[in-house]
Amino acid sequence: MNIIDGKLISAQVKEELREKVEDIKLKGGKIPHLAAVLIGDNGASETYVSSKIKSCEQIGFKSTLVRRDATTSEAEVLEIIGQLNQDEDVDGFIVQLPLPDHINVDKIIEAIDPKKDVDGFHPINIGRMAKGLPSYISATPFGVLELIKRYNIETAGKHCVVVGRSQIVGLPMSILMQRNTYPGNCTVTLVHSRTQNLPEICRQADILVAALGKPEFITAEMVKEGAVVIDVGLTRVVDASKKSGFALKGDVKFDEVAPKTSYITPVPGGVGLMTVAALMHNTLLASQGLVYGK
Ligand code: NAP
Repeated sequence: MNIIDGKLISAQVKEELREKVEDIKLKGGKIPHLAAVLIGDNGASETYVSSKIKSCEQIGFKSTLVRRDATTSEAEVLEIIGQLNQDEDVDGFIVQLPLPDHINVDKIIEAIDPKKDVDGFHPINIGRMAKGLPSYISATPFGVLELIKRYNIETAGKHCVVVGRSQIVGLPMSILMQRNTYPGNCTVTLVHSRTQNLPEICRQADILVAALGKPEFITAEMVKEGAVVIDVGLTRVVDASKKSGFALKGDVKFDEVAPKTSYITPVPGGVGLMTVAALMHNTLLASQGLVYGK
C-alpha cells in the first residue's frame, strides 16, 4: 500500500507556481489576481477562503476578499459579480459555496463570466470540459487528476467507480476519467444514493473515488484487493480531544481499507490540499489567457 501524499504534491504544485510568478515579475508581466466572494459566516467556508487567500500570498498572487453578511440579497451578490466580471485587474474569482438559502446558486454561477470562472462551475466550462475543449476544470477533480498523474497511476482500461454525482465533484470526475487522454480512458460507473448493489459495484473498481460526504461509508468489504482509493470526503465531526473541537473525516474507513489498496489518499492530507493548489493553477491560466485567450 502506498499513501498518496497530498501535502507533498500540493506543496510541489504551489512551489512551481511561485517560481512562475517570480519569472512573470522579472519580465514585468501581469501578476495573477484572484478574488473570493464570501457571503455569511459558515465556519468551514471561512477556513476554505482563508486558506485560498493564504495560498495566493505564498505564491505571490494578488488577492481580494469581498465579504458580506448572511442577509445580503441575491441582487447584491449579482451586483458584486457584475463588478468583478468588469474589473480588468481581476483574472479570476470564486463565490464560496454554500450560499445562504435565499440565494439561488445556479443563478449566481451563471452570472460569472466563464473566462473568470476559475472554479470551473459555469455550465459553459462544464460543457467545454465534457467536449474535451479548453476549459477551467473544477478544482477538486482537477486536484485528483494531478495526484493520479504525479504518482504515475495507470488509468487506461481500468474500471473507475465514482460514488456521488454532485455538479462540483462526482459528475465532473466521472466525465474526466472517461476522456480519451491521461489520466482517463477508464470505463466509468457513477453511483449515487439511488444505486442498487452499491457495495458490489464498488468491489469491481480498480479506481474508487469516494465523494458522497458520509464519513467512513466505504468499508474494507467494498474494496477490491489492490484498488486505488481516492477519498474526496471531508466532513467535520465533533471530537472533544481536538483543540478545535472537531476532526476531519473522509468517506473511507481508512484503517481497514488502506491495507487492501495499492494507493490511497488520507484525510486530512490528501485531496483537500490539492483543491486549493488546483484553483491557483486555474488562476495562473486565467491571467495568461491560456484557456480562452485574452
Ligand atoms: P453533495 O453535493 O452532497 O453530493 C453528494 C453525492 O453523494 C450525491 O450525488 C448523493 O446522491 C451521493 N450520496 C449521498 N449519500 C449516498 C449514499 N449513501 N450512497 C451513495 N451515494 C450517496 O456533496 P459534494 O459537494 O459532492 O461533496 C462530497 C464530499 O466531498 C463532502 O464530504 C465534501 O465536504 C467533500 N468535498 C471535498 C472537497 C475537497 O477539497 N477535498 C471539495 C468539495 C467537496 P444523490 O445525488 O442521489 O443525492
